[in-house]
Amino acid sequence: MSTIRRAAQLLAGRTQILVFTGAGISTESGIPDFRGPNGVWTRVDPNEFTINRYLANPETRRRSWRTRAESGVLEARPNDAHRAVVDLWRAGRMIGCVTQNIDGLHQRAGLPGGDVVELHGNAHRTVCVACGARMATSAALERVVAGDDDPACRDCGGILKTDVVFFGEMLPDGATERAFDLATRCDAVLAVGSTLSVYPAAYVPMEALKTGSHLVIVNQGPTEMDDLATVRIEGPAGTVLPDLVAAVTA
Ligand code: NAD
Repeated sequence: MSTIRRAAQLLAGRTQILVFTGAGISTESGIPDFRGPNGVWTRVDPNEFTINRYLANPETRRRSWRTRAESGVLEARPNDAHRAVVDLWRAGRMIGCVTQNIDGLHQRAGLPGGDVVELHGNAHRTVCVACGARMATSAALERVVAGDDDPACRDCGGILKTDVVFFGEMLPDGATERAFDLATRCDAVLAVGSTLSVYPAAYVPMEALKTGSHLVIVNQGPTEMDDLATVRIEGPAGTVLPDLVAAVTA
């Protein structure tokens, strides 16, 4: 039996599926992942992205804004995998979606914001680290493109940063609690496009396993939890997920 059919049989009767996503669900939307074969870490040093460096070093901030402007994250469109998650939700099979992604593509595909927990923030928002003022990242990037390459807060002069979790930062208030609550109440986890190696995020599927849930993994390449999965499907999310969701909801 194919792995998709085995996973569909496992998920078929369930109504509390927790979808847990990583950068791999968005590569088919043109956003590179971090740890895949063409991932960002094959070209860029992760140590550049610590919060301490960002706050201390204007040159790091300039590079960070330039990278954000060139990344294409803000312009990206959802792909068939994001749309398949929405189909699963519309069929009444999901308890929610916990994502490590910062691209907002689940919501853009049609998943209600209240059903998405963004563990690592959202790149569409920018905040002032001093006064907490918020603005659209597109507005900050307009200033960067116009030559203000390390834009300061217009209210207080503080340092601006996109509202995403840098290395060395805490996860957003409430996000961990909501994610763990879903993990303890779900009846299966469908993990898509993640190496399941970034902590504390990866504690979420771990917690679900501890409370007796099954784990289905859809990924290209190995993950840290392959041995713990009931079914592991190797393949591109944009092809696998629509087939899987169609089989689950048939
Ligand atoms: P990761 O980079 O560690 O792993 C991604 C996994 O997805 C890899 O195993 C890769 O081979 C696989 N993959 C790539 N394309 C795929 C496809 N089309 N179908 C199925 N699998 C595919 O990603 P992660 O586990 O999410 O951790 C990386 C961290 O980077 C996260 O914390 C996340 O916040 C951040 N990140 C986010 C984005 C985004 O928002 N789109 C992009 C890059 C990194």
